[in-house]
Amino acid sequence: MKDPKDRLDSLRAGIERRNPAQPEFHQAVREVLDTLAPVFRARPEYAVPGLVERLTEPERQIVFRVPWQDDHGTVHVNRGFRVEFNSALGPYKGGLRFHPSVDIGVVKFLGFEQIFKNALTGLGIGGGKGGSDFDPRGRSDAEVMRFCQSFMTELHRHIGEHTDVPAGDIGVGGREIGYLFGQYRRITNRWEAGVLTGKGTGWGGSQIRPQATGYGSVLFAAEMLQRQGLGLDGRSAVVSGSGNVALYTIEKLQKLGAYPITCSDSEGYVVDDKGIDLDLLKQIKEVERGRVGAYAERRGASARFVPGGRVWEVAGEVAFPSATQNELGADDARALIASGVKAVSEGANMPTTPEAVRLFQEAGVAFGPGKAANAGGVAVSALEMSQNAARSAWTSQRVEEELAGIMRDIHQVCHETAERYGAPGDYVTGANIAGFERVADAMLAQGVI
Ligand code: NDP
Repeated sequence: MKDPKDRLDSLRAGIERRNPAQPEFHQAVREVLDTLAPVFRARPEYAVPGLVERLTEPERQIVFRVPWQDDHGTVHVNRGFRVEFNSALGPYKGGLRFHPSVDIGVVKFLGFEQIFKNALTGLGIGGGKGGSDFDPRGRSDAEVMRFCQSFMTELHRHIGEHTDVPAGDIGVGGREIGYLFGQYRRITNRWEAGVLTGKGTGWGGSQIRPQATGYGSVLFAAEMLQRQGLGLDGRSAVVSGSGNVALYTIEKLQKLGAYPITCSDSEGYVVDDKGIDLDLLKQIKEVERGRVGAYAERRGASARFVPGGRVWEVAGEVAFPSATQNELGADDARALIASGVKAVSEGANMPTTPEAVRLFQEAGVAFGPGKAANAGGVAVSALEMSQNAARSAWTSQRVEEELAGIMRDIHQVCHETAERYGAPGDYVTGANIAGFERVADAMLAQGVI
């Protein structure tokens, strides 16, 4: 029989041929398949023909036209996507991304990662993802509402609380979920709270859902540090991004006594020697929907804005890439390692390039991959679904305790799995194999479908 590594390599080559011009999807598939050889050797039942082929082919891909009118009456046509990747463990679950860079390859990379992440939470949710190349930046509320309504006019026929449950992602926050939910309710004439997560707490949303991804990413970093006998207290932290994940990463870091000193957007980064003033940053980002450059202008002498710069130029003991894919490359990793970074926790999805991941691992830096480190968001989304199904609402304290327990468990299973397969301290291998085993077991039990 062919060595599992050779077989996985040839499967990967075939997947790349079948899915041309989708570099992010190729990267995400490669990152998983490259870690699976040991599990195929140890458990030959996984080496059955067709399993990896099914796992890397979405169950369903929906691509649709989204026409909408701007405030001047001009018609725009965007493209909408929903990739329903794998439902072996539960209804498809994963966010919607509105960003000009969205195409089918980006949605497939995110959907593929989501399968393993959701499996790691242990909560009975499958993997999916969606979005549009619509750019909400600079659009009025009325324009965003019309876009969301048009998007949902098609999407509604594909989703449902037992089928597919979208949430937010880049460019989709509480405002967009509200407009999407409103249109779903109007078209279907149903109060089906469990069809979307990330809703407002007054109408079916869970406490702590906005905070969950950032909080979870910090809790994962704390677990990784604890394994090395270290803590977060008093440590400087570099955080990229200034959206939902970044803001609540900064908030949790501050609560745990760490010292976040940066944030960024696509125009540059801010470094604040006194530590980020979170109230000011939230005012600018969440209320005014402004840019991080304005933060430096209003903060005074301790802060400066570096246009076009990369946040990884700033020295920090812990790093939280929390903006977008491939935002932290090999040179950035070298700079962070040289500055003495001890742990990297991926708040974003696939923000670290494969070469940068390798550099961190070779340097002995604890590296938490997004599948594990940012799973707190989807975990609390699943808790929101539970609350919706029971028509109940849990307290913040209860949700926060559940989140902390889930992040501890995810860290534990990644750590133990890595050890079991001879890769101690390698959270990438641990997360991929632990997620894979759960999904693969369910797929094998459910037959060839
Ligand atoms: P937001 O839209 O709230 O914020 C995104 C942030 O990243 C903004 O600061 C944005 O800057 C920046 N950014 C986006 N694209 C780029 C780019 N191409 N180059 C540079 N900066 C960019 O999104 P979220 O905070 O929700 O998501 C951030 C990351 O976390 C994504 O990778 C997402 O998939 C991941 N994630 C999110 C979860 C959630 O619960 N929201 C759950 C798990 C993962 P600008 O405004 O200039 O575009």
